[in-house]
Amino acid sequence: MRIVLLGAPGSGKGTQAKKLMADKNIPQVSTGDMLREAVASGTRFGLKAKSVMDAGDLVPDEVVLGIISERLSQPDAADGFILDGFPRTTQQAMDLRELLDQLGTPLDTAVLMDVDFDILMKRLTGRRTCSLTGKLLNVHFSSRDELDECTKAGGELIQREDDNEETIANRLEVYRENTEPLIDYYAKRGKLTTINAEGTIDEVYDRLLEALG
Ligand code: AMP
Repeated sequence: MRIVLLGAPGSGKGTQAKKLMADKNIPQVSTGDMLREAVASGTRFGLKAKSVMDAGDLVPDEVVLGIISERLSQPDAADGFILDGFPRTTQQAMDLRELLDQLGTPLDTAVLMDVDFDILMKRLTGRRTCSLTGKLLNVHFSSRDELDECTKAGGELIQREDDNEETIANRLEVYRENTEPLIDYYAKRGKLTTINAEGTIDEVYDRLLEALG
C-alpha cells in the first residue's frame, strides 16, 4: 500500500498515519517529523530549517525531495508507505511521481482528509504532546483523565513551536496557496479519495480503512 495523506494542518494526517502504520506494518513517512529531528540534532541545516518552520513557511522543494528519496529507498519502505505532509506543492507531487516511477512502485491513492476550518483551528491551537510518553493530546478534545495521566506522572504538555496562532494562520494560508492545488492534481489522475475527517480518531480511522478498501 503506497498512499499519500493529503489535508490541511490539523486534519489528523499524523494521527491516522500512526494508526495505519501500526495496523498494516508499513512506515509513516512524515517530512515534518524528519525535519523536526534535523532541527533537534542542531546541525547547520537544522538551524536553517527551524526558522522556516517557525514561520510556518515551506522548506525548499529540493531539500524535502532529498529527504524523501533517501527515506523511500530504505528497505522498510519497499512494501509500502504512508506519506504524511508530503507532497505539499505541485513540484513535489511531480518529483514524487518521477521518483516512484524510477523505483517502479507507483502511488496507489491520495486520501484527502476533509475538515471544517473551525475544527482545524481548535485541533491546532489545542494540540499538545506529553513529554513523558510522546502521546498526542488536545486540551479541547482529550478527556481530563487523559491529560491528568500525563501531568500526574510528572510529564508536561508540550505545545509545538509552530502551533501558535500567528504561525497557524500562515500555515493554513500556505496550505491554501501551495497544497490545495494537489487535490485537483490527484483528482485529474484518478488517484483522489476524499474522506470526512471530522469526529473521533476511531471514526475517522474507520472511514480511512473503508476508503482504502
Ligand atoms: P508538519 O509537521 O507536516 O505540519 O510540518 C511542519 C513544518 O515542516 C511545515 O510547516 C513546513 O515548514 C515543514 N515541512 C514539512 N513537510 C514539508 C514539505 N513537504 N515541504 C516543505 N516544507 C515542509
